[in-house]
Amino acid sequence: MIQHSLLTPSQLADAAPRLWTNDREARMRPASVHDDAVDAAEDRLKRAHGLLQRLFPALAALRHPLRSPLLPADALAKMLGAAPEATGRWLTKCDHRLPVAGSVKARGGFHEVIAFAERVASENGLIGEGAELSPLAGSQARALFARHSVVVGSTGNLGMSIGLVAAALGFRAVVHMSRDAKAWKKARLRAHGAEVVEHSGDYARAVATGRAAAEADPFAHFVDDEQSLDLFVGYAAAARELAEQLAEQGIGIDAEHPLFVYIPCGVGGAPGGITYGLKRLFGPHVHCFFAEPVQSPCMLVQMLADNDDGLTVYDVGLTNRTEADGLAVGQASMLVAPLMRDRLAGIYTVTDDQLFALLRAGSDALSLGLEPSAAAALAGPLFLTQTGAGRAYLEAWGGRDRLARATHILWTTGGSLVPDDERARYLARAAATPFELLAR
Ligand SMILES: *Cc1c(COP(=O)(O)O)cnc(C)c1O
Repeated sequence: MIQHSLLTPSQLADAAPRLWTNDREARMRPASVHDDAVDAAEDRLKRAHGLLQRLFPALAALRHPLRSPLLPADALAKMLGAAPEATGRWLTKCDHRLPVAGSVKARGGFHEVIAFAERVASENGLIGEGAELSPLAGSQARALFARHSVVVGSTGNLGMSIGLVAAALGFRAVVHMSRDAKAWKKARLRAHGAEVVEHSGDYARAVATGRAAAEADPFAHFVDDEQSLDLFVGYAAAARELAEQLAEQGIGIDAEHPLFVYIPCGVGGAPGGITYGLKRLFGPHVHCFFAEPVQSPCMLVQMLADNDDGLTVYDVGLTNRTEADGLAVGQASMLVAPLMRDRLAGIYTVTDDQLFALLRAGSDALSLGLEPSAAAALAGPLFLTQTGAGRAYLEAWGGRDRLARATHILWTTGGSLVPDDERARYLARAAATPFELLAR
């Protein structure tokens, strides 16, 4: 038993960076819950290749329009002071380079909108079940979709993913955002034909208002970031993509060659879906860690509370204020949290200063163009190998000698769409921040 599970939610009020590990992570492959829905999502996204290529010229030449690169990151390991020969192989899963949406939200968001479009088209006799979906870009489908709207509440990237594909299909796309969401994200959405509705108050307010507006309209589909299974299983499709890329690179995953994955977490849908998918494929040989800002550790609060009451970060005295706008979420998804109780390996938290230091390290070592949220992934292997909690976890899972044969995946979830002046500001802030990753 690993004793730091003694951590209580109220202790998070100190806003200190830390690693919590989950002593309930299952030693066997977890029971299937949504496996059929994940299979259906993988199939739907395959059937949508031609459709996406018709909708977005940037995808036309790609063999895999929704696949992000898996690239070596040993140079980053060295820059952060970790020896690859001792800690294993480091790779980045570069969702920040996903075309069109520019973030991890692409698979989930595109899947949800395409599933809705397929449903509307098939109810109206335009396509049959299991059909190839490129006819959804045709004029008949467009005329039909123009009578429907797709509504979403978002801190930014989800709105971008949903808004862009919904508008491209001809839906009226309405994105509810909090007023403090990044201005450039709102501008880009508007430039692509989506309506942006701004709200004072936090992200949960934007979501609630969007939901209420959509429920009052029978031709509106509300994309529910907290509850949507279509989003979740779309995210989960990333697991097979990663498994294929590992196989292509000759990297086997088994008891002697474990896989460690580090994913930034907001409401939990994206990292939860990926974790669900990976546990399904690799069982106990994959260990998934989430990264959250110290002021917004909503999933960690949920894991520690260990009930379904929906405790928030405000309840434990935190502000939910962070530059990591994709992760600034006060309450975790209650669809996802219960699924993580026996699947998650752990959660670590980082300060905003650490995020900017990591962002700069990623830029210097690997030329990664990340947004602060995504930079949270880069600290994962250090928390695992350089903290007491991490070392205890490694001992409990078969000793440190397995570590040298491990593969670490840093999931860089967003950033390629960040405008140049914003990126320069990030790097300037990082330059003014002392590089001290693990102060404790
Ligand atoms: C949304 C987002 C996440 C986290 O996804 P959730 O589903 O909110 O947990 C991580 N990184 C970036 C860049 C994001 O936009």
